[in-house]
Amino acid sequence: MSDRPSAREVKRHKWWGWGLDDVSFRYDNKPAFAPLARNKVGVDLDSKQPVEPDLADVEVPASRLPAAARAALAEIVGEENLAEDDEYRLVHSFGRSLPDLFRVRTGRFERLVDAVVYPANEDEVAAVLRLVLEQDLVLIPYGGGSCISGSVTPDPAEQRPVVTMNIGRMREVLEIDDTAGLARVEAGVYGPDLEEQLNALGWTVGHFPDSFTYSTLGGWAATRSSGMQSDKYGDIEDIVRGMRMVHPDGVAVTKPIPGRDSGPSVHEMILGSEGRLGIITEATVQVHRIAPVRQVIAYMYPDWEHGIRGMHAIARSTDVSPTFTRLSDGPETEFSLAMVKEPTSTKGRVAAKVQDGLFAYLRSKGWDTTNEMSISYVCFEGSKESVEQQKSLVKKIVKNAGGITLGAGPGAIYDQKKFDTPYLRDFLMNYQVFGDVCDTGATWSNINEVHARVYDAYYAALEEQGLSGFMFCHMSHSYHAGACLYFTFAVPYTSEEKALEQYYAAKSAVQQTFVDLGSTVSHHHAVGTEHQAWITEDIGEVGERMVKGLLADNDPGRNLNPGKVVAP
Ligand SMILES: Cc1cc2nc3c(=O)[nH]c(=O)nc-3n(C[C@H](O)[C@H](O)[C@H](O)COP(=O)(O)OP(=O)(O)OC[C@H]3O[C@@H](n4cnc5c(N)ncnc54)[C@H](O)[C@@H]3O)c2cc1C
Repeated sequence: MSDRPSAREVKRHKWWGWGLDDVSFRYDNKPAFAPLARNKVGVDLDSKQPVEPDLADVEVPASRLPAAARAALAEIVGEENLAEDDEYRLVHSFGRSLPDLFRVRTGRFERLVDAVVYPANEDEVAAVLRLVLEQDLVLIPYGGGSCISGSVTPDPAEQRPVVTMNIGRMREVLEIDDTAGLARVEAGVYGPDLEEQLNALGWTVGHFPDSFTYSTLGGWAATRSSGMQSDKYGDIEDIVRGMRMVHPDGVAVTKPIPGRDSGPSVHEMILGSEGRLGIITEATVQVHRIAPVRQVIAYMYPDWEHGIRGMHAIARSTDVSPTFTRLSDGPETEFSLAMVKEPTSTKGRVAAKVQDGLFAYLRSKGWDTTNEMSISYVCFEGSKESVEQQKSLVKKIVKNAGGITLGAGPGAIYDQKKFDTPYLRDFLMNYQVFGDVCDTGATWSNINEVHARVYDAYYAALEEQGLSGFMFCHMSHSYHAGACLYFTFAVPYTSEEKALEQYYAAKSAVQQTFVDLGSTVSHHHAVGTEHQAWITEDIGEVGERMVKGLLADNDPGRNLNPGKVVAP
């Protein structure tokens, strides 16, 4: 095993937002963006002064970690792998939901973590957990801190010292079973690092959540993550075949096997446990040989309903198996077009002219190219022949559903830009706008109803608050029985005092509609505290009691990330 990085070398977010300190969203090269923000959200980007926070302006309460506990932790992980400074405590006290970012930027610190430890291996993880139990501290496991469910934030009422355990130093691919296509990997590895290590040997996991750059294997397993390529590679519960988790009584090990019948599944209990059962130190994941050819093709439908018909037909087809399928509704298509950069090359200018001509032609055929037209992306992987064959079959399916094929150009742009959008959320908050997301799983039978009713609920909630807003949606993560609906919505708040109330009015309306229509509280954004209000309606009273029993029995002292998933 190579040398461990030091705690300070482990990647982390900027203290008040997403990702790197020196990267932010720009709109000066996107001519349609400012008009869209003005017309839809009522924000004049050119007249408002963006406000970026400064650490010097916030008052960070002192750590409550007793000196004896501090010394014992430093003894285990080493002085240099224990962080107590303001910036590290702030970064680790919040995930990256909009309420999290708002609270951290405005100094609304209900309860911060008191220290962050960075263990080097499973023995150190176990030693820290033993100390936590002996001294009745609270321990919060931490991966990339990208959750939007409140899952890494201490309970505001917590009186005991709170220690966050960042396992980012444990980031190696340990071994690969070439025959089985299984890789044993340390759980603190970030997405890009994992793919880099595997790609060098010709393998891929194929798990690419939108938060890929700032989320970890352990975090994915602990939150039941789903990546954009789940149509082919599966959700994380399909990908992770075995795990090691440090538990209060020892190490829980689930065997890396393709299937199991050993009674109620311990493996499934650990998945989605959000740090409440222990610390996942390793996962054995399915790996695949990198496909020789990969292509993303864009299609356009006259509206959402035609698009869903196409998506459903692709999911049902016995002849095609794309890597991902995605459909943006009319408003999201409009938003995507507003994110297109001004062309600077001759090739770009020609492409823009071709697009204008195409849209004029579609309008002449009766399409509403401003509000209804819905863009779709389908990704194909395999040999050249197989990709060509699948593309031609999907082209026919799309045509039968009333759509047209745009080609590889827009598909390639989508593929390159897919991890850039998180920076937009911080940018919007500089202008007093929350831009957040809610997702759910819906069946093909009710997907259109969920889509329509969520829009109604969101706009009604905003109207009640006297606010204007903008919502858009895409469908992704296709399954035999249905798909994920992913809504993005803006809440331009009127004042700091009213911000969270206005945000939660909109978000709650959306979440309530999900469960009212029999959909899930979330498709892949975990429960944490943010989605707890709807968990009983989602899993039922008996289900909730079963989960509470599991957590209480395994962690009777409530030392492990208490308050997440179900309360207490
Ligand atoms: C812009 C944006 C886009 C997103 N897109 C997606 C997406 O496409 N798909 C998706 O699935 N999610 C997405 N998310 C949500 C988030 O990225 C996922 O929940 C992710 O799996 C969290 O991983 P993490 O490593 O950042 O975990 P963290 O945020 O650090 O932790 C999340 C939870 O897991 C627990 N945990 C973390 N590591 C461990 C461990 N080793 N052992 C035990 N418990 C642990 C924590 O205690 C906490 O309860 C997105 C979030 C943002 C902000």
